[in-house]
This record gives sequence, structure tokens and C-alpha cells, in this order.
Amino acid sequence: MADNHSKEIRSMNMSHIRSTNSKPEEIVRKYLFSKGLRYRKNVRTLPGKPDIVLRKYKTVVFVNGCFWHKHDCGRFVMPASNIEYWTKKINGNIDRDKANTAQLESQGWRVLTIWECQLKKKVADEYLSQLYKSIINKI
Ligand SMILES: [Zn+2]
Repeated sequence: MADNHSKEIRSMNMSHIRSTNSKPEEIVRKYLFSKGLRYRKNVRTLPGKPDIVLRKYKTVVFVNGCFWHKHDCGRFVMPASNIEYWTKKINGNIDRDKANTAQLESQGWRVLTIWECQLKKKVADEYLSQLYKSIINKI
């Protein structure tokens, strides 16, 4: 009996951990929402399909994975095999990011990026509040 109960709790905890870990963009959205900001998500009509679009502030936010977008934070490690494939793939992502940013900016959007590593528990509050302030133009 007691064991069943603890199993249940354990699996709940596990699913909670999984969902918060696997969806950094959800962390960012929830935070901005709690601050009273309203946004659209994954807007297909804009270059790069931004994760968060705040029309009122003419701002888009990309929530980037450190590996896929080659963040200079030490979390990016080139896989040991298929180096050619990965180099091409990751460089392609970076080129696309640059092109999307340029296009968005030429359409008058401000482009903000928050990285996966900035959403780790220890530092998330600081980076999220920084992001919020940049959105509402206080920095
Ligand atoms: Zn990073």
C-alpha cells in the first residue's frame, strides 16, 4: 500500500521534472504570462516561427537550445561521430538564425533570445526578469 503511494508520487515528480526540463519555452511563457504580458506562440507567418510574439511591444523572443544553436556557454559539444553531418546541420541552424533575425529586424521587430542554460533553476529568475525588463523597455 505505502509502496503504491510512493510510486505514484515518484512518477508524478518524474513527469513534472520531465515536462519542465524538456520545455524551456513553457518556462518563459509562464513567467511572462505571470507578469501580465500576453503573446502569441509559434507564429508561422514570421521568419523563424518565433516561440513568443509580443505584438504590443513589437518584440519576438526565441528560446534557443544551446546545442542546436551553438551557444557559447560550454553546453555545446560537437558529437564525436558524424562530425561532418553535425557541423553542416548546426552551421545551417546558425545561418538560418542570422537570416531570420535580419528579416525580422527589417520588418521592425526587436529580436530577443533566451538560452536553455539561462533557464536552469539557479539562474532562471535573474534571466527571466532581465528578459521581462527588456521587453517592456526598462533596460
Ligand atoms: Zn547555453
